[in-house]
Parts: sequence; C-alpha cells; structure tokens
Amino acid sequence: MLLAIQEATNSTNQEFPFFLYGKEIGNNQIEFTEFMSASNNRQTIEANFNQTMINNLQNRINGNLNNGLVVCHGHSHPPIGNFHQNFSLGDFTSFMQMNEENPVFKNRQVELTSCLVTSTGDINFIFYDNTNQNFYRFTNVMVKGKDNNYRPVNCYGLNQKEQLNTNSIRR
Ligand SMILES: [Zn+2]
Repeated sequence: MLLAIQEATNSTNQEFPFFLYGKEIGNNQIEFTEFMSASNNRQTIEANFNQTMINNLQNRINGNLNNGLVVCHGHSHPPIGNFHQNFSLGDFTSFMQMNEENPVFKNRQVELTSCLVTSTGDINFIFYDNTNQNFYRFTNVMVKGKDNNYRPVNCYGLNQKEQLNTNSIRR
C-alpha cells in the first residue's frame, strides 16, 4: 500500500497524506494493521489532512485512550528539491505541533509516530519523545506479506540486513 503511495507520488509530483493505525506489540515494536487516506484533488503539493481524514482520526481515538493505540501520520515526498529523501524541517515542526496541541498525544494516551515515504520507496518512521524532546528513528521496518511472512523494507537508505537494532516496526 505504501509503495502504491510512492508510485502515485512520483507520477503526480504531489505529496500524499495518510494515517496508519496499529498497536504496540512489544518493547519498541509497533504493528500497523490499518491504512487510511482520503486524498482529494488538492491545489497544493503540500500534504495536508482533509476533514475526512481528521474525522477518521477522531473516531479512532475516541474510546481508544490508554489501550495501546498507535497512530502514525504519514506523507510522501515526490522527487522535487533537495529534501525528498528525508523529513523536511517543516515536517518535524508539524509533527511536534500535532503532538503538543493534542492532549491525547501529549499525555501519551495514544502514541503518535510519523512516517515518510520517499521517492525511492524508503519508508522512514520517527517517534517524538516529548519528555526529553528527542526524535527517534525506527531502523527496522518489516512488511507482512499475504503469506504472513515478514520481509524487510528499506528505510533511511540503510540495508536492513546489516542492522543490529532492537527497534522494529511492522506493517
Ligand atoms: Zn514532507
């Protein structure tokens, strides 16, 4: 699904916004099981969440406080400019804002992560820890195939087979 986003991004040169919903299934391990995007014909190339997406997020959060729900707000970068392989400064800022302005995320009743699909198909996840105001990268990302097997996905331009990291995200 996220690679379909990459294709659409590269063919339209637009950023696509999306949400992933999942659960923390172990220490620093998140499994995302749901994908949501409602992208309409937008005038800008910036990824903005429309009202349909915001309503969807609100519905998911309602009644899901403190039970391990993890929300990922993601977007893609088309191959334009110098920063399409990584989060832009604006991306970090809007991620922090989303965390600071929503008490549900700020008080960690629902965990918030962020994801970037790059023009080369890397899938980069970050987590912002508002206690010590630090960003963390997830460097082990797996996709669950139709055969229920997990296979690694490139992220941050890293070859995952060489990784020895404990952090892991599955989708
Ligand atoms: Zn961006």
